[in-house]
Amino acid sequence: MNPHAGTLLVVSAAHFAAQRHVDQRRKGASSEPYFNHVSEVAKTLADATHGSDPGLIAAGYLHDTIEDQNVTYGELVEQFGQDVAELVLEVTDDKTLAKEARKQAQIDHAPYKSQRAKMLKIADKCSNLRSLLTSPPAGWTLERKLTYFDWADAVVAGCRGVNAELDAAFDKLMARRGEIAADSAVA
Ligand code: ZN
Repeated sequence: MNPHAGTLLVVSAAHFAAQRHVDQRRKGASSEPYFNHVSEVAKTLADATHGSDPGLIAAGYLHDTIEDQNVTYGELVEQFGQDVAELVLEVTDDKTLAKEARKQAQIDHAPYKSQRAKMLKIADKCSNLRSLLTSPPAGWTLERKLTYFDWADAVVAGCRGVNAELDAAFDKLMARRGEIAADSAVA
């Protein structure tokens, strides 16, 4: 096997994600490019695993491509192999469900996901909590933000115990839940 295969995989995934999310922006007040979100998720996974799992890092870059950009599972298999494609599929919501049902499904299904999918879920939620703390969507009420924090906590409850660094990173953000209340109360 090519000893540089892992590097190629990760760089190809980053490039693919940059292309597919090119017109997508975060909902936050500063409208960051969506790529910044997937890049943050990939970096969080790389840090927590000390770069030991290129397939997981690649899936970090790709994790929202099926859900948000209509990329197909088959396309991911073709470009990145079955391992990465399955990981992305595992963290993709069933869009035939209504929004509330999808949110509940994330909580219900989390404990049955693979270990790597659990890590990916935590990294994704870390990025979303950080965004809510630093650049929250303009129209979100305090209650909506707090509800999101509580929902993320419930999803992550089913994903814990795989990687201590990820669990700790999430807990650190969750501990800042009170900052949201304080900020919005002043505003
Ligand atoms: Zn995401």
